[in-house]
Amino acid sequence: MKINLRLKLTLSFILVVLLTGALSIIIGFNLILDKLVGQAQSTVLSHINTSQLIYSDDIGILNLQVNRISVSEEFLDAFLSEDRDQLQALISARREELGLDILNVTNSNGRIVTRGRNPELHGDSVMGMSCVKRALQEKKAFAGSSVFLQTYLQKEGPDLGQQAIVQIVETPRSRKGDRIIEDRGLMQIASSPIIHRGKIIGVVYGAKLLNNNFDFVDRVQNLVYENEDYDSAEAGNVTIFLDDVRVSTNVRNTDSSRALGSLVSEEVYNTVVNNGETWLGKAFVVNQWYISAYRPIRDLDDNVIGMVYVGIQEKLFQDINRQTLVFYILMILAGSILALLLSLYFIKTILTPYKTLIESSKQLARGSYIKVDIKSRDEVGDLARAYNKMISAIRERDEKLRDQTEQQLGQSEKLASLGRLASGIAHEINNPLTGILTYSSMLLEDFRGTEFEEDLQTIVDETMRCRKIVKGILDFARETKLEKEKSNVNSALRQALSLLERHYNFHNIKITLDLYENLPEIMLDLNLIRSVFNNLAVNAADAMPDGGELRVSTRFSPKSQLITINFTDTGIGIPPENIPKIFDPFFTTKEPGKGTGLGMSVTYGIIKRHNGTIDISSEPGKGTTVTIELPLETELNFPELS
Ligand code: ADP
Ligand code: MG
Repeated sequence: MKINLRLKLTLSFILVVLLTGALSIIIGFNLILDKLVGQAQSTVLSHINTSQLIYSDDIGILNLQVNRISVSEEFLDAFLSEDRDQLQALISARREELGLDILNVTNSNGRIVTRGRNPELHGDSVMGMSCVKRALQEKKAFAGSSVFLQTYLQKEGPDLGQQAIVQIVETPRSRKGDRIIEDRGLMQIASSPIIHRGKIIGVVYGAKLLNNNFDFVDRVQNLVYENEDYDSAEAGNVTIFLDDVRVSTNVRNTDSSRALGSLVSEEVYNTVVNNGETWLGKAFVVNQWYISAYRPIRDLDDNVIGMVYVGIQEKLFQDINRQTLVFYILMILAGSILALLLSLYFIKTILTPYKTLIESSKQLARGSYIKVDIKSRDEVGDLARAYNKMISAIRERDEKLRDQTEQQLGQSEKLASLGRLASGIAHEINNPLTGILTYSSMLLEDFRGTEFEEDLQTIVDETMRCRKIVKGILDFARETKLEKEKSNVNSALRQALSLLERHYNFHNIKITLDLYENLPEIMLDLNLIRSVFNNLAVNAADAMPDGGELRVSTRFSPKSQLITINFTDTGIGIPPENIPKIFDPFFTTKEPGKGTGLGMSVTYGIIKRHNGTIDISSEPGKGTTVTIELPLETELNFPELS
């Protein structure tokens, strides 16, 4: 039971701990994942904002550079001097200085006056270029992004045309197209009107080709990812798309070359190029997953012509996730283990008092009354106090029982030794008494009618009385053998009492019988039982010298299987101090010659021999009740005491 309780407590504690742990893990997992995904997306969003700022900034700088040339005195002088060589030298020098791919000057009709890169070619019209046309028409500087065709790029120089060419590569998940190369150029461009005396006399425009130019993407990568490598590839990267083709990137192929020429996925293309929106989410780029953002690049007429992309390897976030989750799980495990250890400790403290109680109970069973020392104020304390009270009560009861038993044993012992002595004497006296009785009876017959008759009669009477005493002693000492037969207690009572009414002085006494009709028959020595009833009735009569009532009742209890016989008189009663002595042989309160003091002790012996009990209750001045209980089974089934 002890183990069961411990097991139950432990199991329920473990269950609670596990449930709490599991719930925290599930809830915590989701919260953390949500948080991390949100964090990853906002990180990427801030990166795309940064890269867009830098992109616009680059255009702004280009704009300033072109603008400064168009308003410089040196340039105006050269332009107005109509000295083509001087102008050509200036523009070529500026282009190189500023690192521009294109720096050209047109006249007010949009025809090329000077090409910074290709001096040979001039006089052709570039009016078709939005930035030139609008600078001439609106008298304003323009800057932005634009797409240049290969034919135009060729005019600037075959090398520039070559730089623009990107081979289209097929990758899993990318958009399918039918082109095999992209030969157009994505340009950052700025134009500025040349104004002389309030009139527009031409346009200066400069441009940078972004195809195969990694300056922008690498700068942004260095800035936002601070060059931090992750797992041998860059943690994040940047790409510029012309339409759907990667024309500049630091996404690497497995051979660590730049992943140029691959196409964007259909989904992203739709969102960004077709709808002109920002795309945010997980994207499979070349060969891995990235948390990515794409944003449209628009030309001067607000058409989407390309995209800027930034992405962070998903693995990075997954690793952070994994680390966070592992840390979280470890924490919960540690907490659970701690909770478990604590609960085991508590179980121990809870169970210890019970162990003490069980130990003490075992001791009690072995006969030592050991109280438990548990001082707690809770229910266990209450239990311990109740238990200690119980120990005291058991101890008290045991001691009382022991005293009683000792007393009873003493009584039986006393009776037994007295019985042995008395029966010895009785035996010795019995034979001479028979002689005396025989001869005195013969003498009485011989001397009847003479002066000796009365004395002889006295001798015979007194001798008879002696024999009665001797017989009583022998009865008491159980020297006579029991002769049991199946009998009815009621009829034995009736016989004994009717005989008595005639032979004894009962004229003042009313005898009332209250007999239970269906008494079961039991085995009785009828002679002895009649003498018991005799004794009790005579004692009652002796107690009522001035008359009274003797009430005799019988009862049967099927439950206890006992026949109860009560003799109740209305006599003088017995003082309490005499009650323990009533069954002592020779105890009498009657005057010498009247009582022998053997009646009750003989009665006690006979009832005992029928396996029964006898009890006296009395109230001095009111009367006495003697109660006999006889079992249905009157055979003794335990050794006799004598
Ligand atoms: P005896 O009758 O010879 O005195 P018993 O053994 O029969 O001896 O009785 C012992 C004593 O018990 C009596 O002397 C008497 O004092 C008391 N006694 C017995 N029965 C009664 C009774 N019914 N009422 C009062 N005293 C009784
Ligand atoms: Mg008597």
